[in-house]
Amino acid sequence: MSTLEVKDLHVEVQDGESGAVKEILKGVNLSMSTGEIHAIMGPNGTGKSTLSETIMGQSAYHVTQGDILLDGNSILDMPVDERARRGLFLAMQYPAEIPGVTNAEFLRAAINARRPKDDQISVMSFLKELDKNLDLLDMNEAMTERYLNEGFSGGEKKRNEILQLLMIKPAFALLDEIDSGLDIDALQVVAKGVNSMRGDNFGALIITHYQRLLNYIKPDVVHVMMGGRIVKTGGADLALKLEDEGYAGLRDEFGLDV
Ligand code: ADP
Ligand code: MG
Ligand code: MG
Repeated sequence: MSTLEVKDLHVEVQDGESGAVKEILKGVNLSMSTGEIHAIMGPNGTGKSTLSETIMGQSAYHVTQGDILLDGNSILDMPVDERARRGLFLAMQYPAEIPGVTNAEFLRAAINARRPKDDQISVMSFLKELDKNLDLLDMNEAMTERYLNEGFSGGEKKRNEILQLLMIKPAFALLDEIDSGLDIDALQVVAKGVNSMRGDNFGALIITHYQRLLNYIKPDVVHVMMGGRIVKTGGADLALKLEDEGYAGLRDEFGLDV
């Protein structure tokens, strides 16, 4: 079992235009284990993406207070690729296009980066696993011989991100708005992929503005983020309640100016 803990996390970013520094996360606490699927919901601009980018280690986000622990050890000093090797995965973390690298080459390199030097995946095992997952996601084999993301449509990119997830098998996946812009068929494929990962060795943090995705990927725990903090945590029913009542009720309840 692995654990991911966010403790009293405060994060600042510097505005590109004005240069002004502002605090986006104002003391986020979150604790999850593999075997669990958590969802974070919240209005736009509340810091959801900032949280996932900070967990992954993007350099624009400055941690001024608090900690992020993977299996009890702080990861704050680790660069993004080290965090990935240790089992974190952020959908859409990868460059839009990598010239000259095919999708399959990229996947094999990413899998091997997580394995010891003397236990790299064999070509046979890799292709077998790739075949299985392409079938599951209803993807064409030709996709894997194309250069990474070059000329992929929006829907193809999303499917490909889920293929990366299935192949790389992270301990924790951070899935930020993976439902945005998807039609219902693509949404179901994405959900099928994530659901197939469910198990003792996998945890996901699903970030979404809308409840829709959670009809297909049922969360064990739902957090509501507002104004840079998690203001409420509950079960799957909390997402339904929010869909009914919107965020306005919570704003009043917590006296938030957000
Ligand atoms: P959400 O994902 O909940 O919509 P974000 O985390 O994207 O919210 O954004 C929260 C706030 O932080 C917004 O005001 C946004 O403009 C600001 N912000 C996020 N990332 C950056 C960045 N790299 N540079 C400057 N401001 C940022
Ligand atoms: Mg946003
Ligand atoms: Mg966002």
